[in-house]
Amino acid sequence: MSDAGTTVIAVASGKGGTGKTTVAAHLAIAGARGRPTMLVDLDVEAPDASGYFKGAGRSGDASEVSVLVPRLVEARCTGCGLCAKACRFGAILAIGGVITIDPKVCKGCGACVNACPAAALEEIPMTVGQTSSFDADGLAILEGRMAIGDIRSTVVIEAAKKRAAESGAALQIRDCPPGVSCPATHAIEGADYVVLVAEPTEFSIHDLGAAVRLARGRGVPAGVVINKEGFGDADIAGFCEREGIPVIGRIAFKRERAASGAAAEPWSDDAAISGEIDAILALAADGARTDGGLR
Ligand code: SF4
Ligand code: SF4
Repeated sequence: MSDAGTTVIAVASGKGGTGKTTVAAHLAIAGARGRPTMLVDLDVEAPDASGYFKGAGRSGDASEVSVLVPRLVEARCTGCGLCAKACRFGAILAIGGVITIDPKVCKGCGACVNACPAAALEEIPMTVGQTSSFDADGLAILEGRMAIGDIRSTVVIEAAKKRAAESGAALQIRDCPPGVSCPATHAIEGADYVVLVAEPTEFSIHDLGAAVRLARGRGVPAGVVINKEGFGDADIAGFCEREGIPVIGRIAFKRERAASGAAAEPWSDDAAISGEIDAILALAADGARTDGGLR
């Protein structure tokens, strides 16, 4: 369990289109019936979890996320190139003693500023995104969103995680970016349990394998939810058995559910799905508490 008695459950998938956000939104709805719960949208390139809550109102406390990027003071620069050598992100080019800084690539680590012997780099804030909070009938929603054209998703993800941790919610449900690249890794890190959503297709099995390796690599226990069961015939359950990872839920494919998901509308009028979601949440919370499932 995370600090201060908070349980953090990350909902992830090896690929897009599995219904990850739909499952995350429903787990949050179920969680909010029993304890203070926050749905944390970390899919910062295209956050859409709040769309499931048509009445959600912005609380007005949107907060900018920024990094400190270096600005060259040409009059002091000797052209030594030490700043470019110090930058492991390739944000500074030194060619023939001429320094070029690409602030859009800069991660704000400050290494170049520390490396400069001439104090020729000043730091200025640059906005990379924002976090916003919503309230949806007792469910708190926190959304991270990258600034248009920016590429520093991980900075926004970490800012949203920090703000969520400060909220004091007893349960956090994170909607993670799809895939297994750097943003997904940051979104999973620090969670107590990962719910991996997969659909019964061969593509999904392949990508689920990568997601399992990611969870294992980060040392976070995980279980699989087979969504749209019956939609395809790939043997997800067999894969999970071979991998030694538990299947903690099965959600049958229904055309009405697919239509609701496409329209970002809850399934909650369906009693069968409510029971299944409650069971998934209970198993994930138990896995978080017992450190079980994957490791
Ligand atoms: S602050 Fe870090 S990432 Fe940005 S330019 Fe300097 S060394 Fe590179
Ligand atoms: S380290 Fe400082 S002095 Fe050297 S090239 Fe970079 S900005 Fe100029």
